[in-house]
Amino acid sequence: MLQRVISLTVRDVRFQTSLEQHGSDAMHTDPDYSAAYVVIDTDCGLKGFGLTFTVGKGTEIVVRAVDALAGLVVGKSLQEIVSDFRGFYRLLTSDGQMRWLGPEKGVIHLATAAVLNAVWDLWARAEVFITCADCFFRLPEDQMLKEGYPAYTTSCAWLGYPDQQLKQLCTDALEGGWTKFKVKVGADLEDDIRRCRLIRQMIGPNNTLMIDANQRWDVDEAISWVSRLSEFKPLWIEEPTSPDDILGHAAISKALAPLGIGVATGEQCANRVMFKQFLQASALQFVQIDSCRLGSVNENLAVLLMAHKFKVPVCPHAGGVGLCELVQHLILFDYICVSASLSDRMCEYVDHLHEHFVNPVVIQDAHYMPPKDPGYSCEMLESSVQRHQYPEGEAWKAAHEQMTKA
Ligand SMILES: [Mg+2]
Repeated sequence: MLQRVISLTVRDVRFQTSLEQHGSDAMHTDPDYSAAYVVIDTDCGLKGFGLTFTVGKGTEIVVRAVDALAGLVVGKSLQEIVSDFRGFYRLLTSDGQMRWLGPEKGVIHLATAAVLNAVWDLWARAEVFITCADCFFRLPEDQMLKEGYPAYTTSCAWLGYPDQQLKQLCTDALEGGWTKFKVKVGADLEDDIRRCRLIRQMIGPNNTLMIDANQRWDVDEAISWVSRLSEFKPLWIEEPTSPDDILGHAAISKALAPLGIGVATGEQCANRVMFKQFLQASALQFVQIDSCRLGSVNENLAVLLMAHKFKVPVCPHAGGVGLCELVQHLILFDYICVSASLSDRMCEYVDHLHEHFVNPVVIQDAHYMPPKDPGYSCEMLESSVQRHQYPEGEAWKAAHEQMTKA
């Protein structure tokens, strides 16, 4: 714990997922899954790894914001940081000048998350967490080790996938034991009806279907559009409208309740203050936390506790680059230490880019299996970082050459 931070470096790492329309939705039609990837070095050789997720262009802005925060971390000992973690969080989010860029939202918030994720990783690697839990905690822990945490898949039905691909992926997923599926909707109603019908026919009446519009509609449009899709029995509509429109979500939630469809926040709900108001306004039936949008673990823990207080299940967002690796820790904490319930709870899973991580997530029979290695699981393979670093990595040089030839 006496380790002192001697440097904090950040790199712009991007993957060309847009080439095959992975990750495409009604608003983000060509995402290149990317990360501002942070490495903290200490004077005793121990390192911490963290990241925040982006979808391509603009990652360089997040990288600059991380650089701007680095001075607040370098020179501190881990002991100094974790003995007053709240104070450290406030130091990062309330710097007298940089606060103007937020507070606790936008680029500076993403940058804060990348830094804090790396600090948590460093802390977890430095500590030996001793299980001194009583029987109650031990029971959920044993259950997780044996069965894992239930997951749902978004990999089958990105908006840009043709029907044939959707069918094939759905067949494969069913064979792999998946029972919960999410479909991207919101660009064209007739397309949505066709795709939802197709997937519902494939998965049958008893498996779970969810839909996600990624903020595409205004409030009235969301209500009428989702009502048209109600025959396919979606459990929730995610991000039906602007992520800042709390009363809009409340109106949608009220209108859809008789149809048995809940409302979920998505991965772009800004921060803990917004979550508080969403919950107070009864605007949500499902809370989605995000390991990189919120200011990292600190803020996510606050949201888990608030959701518990309001009796709303947490079903975290994941996917992207490294989000499944990060979020598995948060759901295990939620189950073992907060909710002890799996009722209406599941965590998103997307089957991309895990091969770039040193300790990739382990999925068994559509469940997240608890990670066994110390840390926050987002250390990337150095070879992957170098190859995909933007714009100088080999992957991007090759892409650039191809474009110039064309
Ligand atoms: Mg979403």
